[in-house]
Amino acid sequence: MISVGDKIKIISMKNEPQYSGKVGIVYAIDGIGQIHGTWGGLALVPKEDKFEIIKEKNCDICDKRFNEYVNNPSPIKADICCNECNEKIVVPLRIFQATKNANFALLIATDGTIKTVKPKEKYFNLKELQTNVEGLIEMYPTYWQDNFIVCNEEGLLKDMEYNKLAKLILGVDLVGPVLVVPRPLLEED
Ligand SMILES: [Zn+2]
Repeated sequence: MISVGDKIKIISMKNEPQYSGKVGIVYAIDGIGQIHGTWGGLALVPKEDKFEIIKEKNCDICDKRFNEYVNNPSPIKADICCNECNEKIVVPLRIFQATKNANFALLIATDGTIKTVKPKEKYFNLKELQTNVEGLIEMYPTYWQDNFIVCNEEGLLKDMEYNKLAKLILGVDLVGPVLVVPRPLLEED
């Protein structure tokens, strides 16, 4: 029995050899039983095509195995995530992205958690930024969706832990805590 959310590996699809070996998540099963999924545009026809259900699911964010329903981790570029990561990381990230004129920043910690941080006044001051990144600050040279990326200038020197979650979210390699700050929350001079 196959259901929406299952991860599938295609063994062979009739007349479509390029689909062999593709892996994807089922997102719909239509009225005539064809299975649609993230592997591509063509649906699987159970009587014609061969596939297997991959039972063990691995969360792309925390890397733990899980059995419950899979979640779409977008905007994080990964395939699936567990409920806990969805609640604690994906949903807050979406709220952050969807909030216009956000008055808070996101702190991405090396333990794989994120939390929201508000400046005391209108802007973050230097001390607040330093507290969050646990030392001297460095402005990363690129933005993430119009937000500043603030990290620890001495992170490598101090042998701080690699920030795996920052890599997943921001696509950059950093160590130590990373603060994602909406541009209006930093006074530019
Ligand atoms: Zn997870």
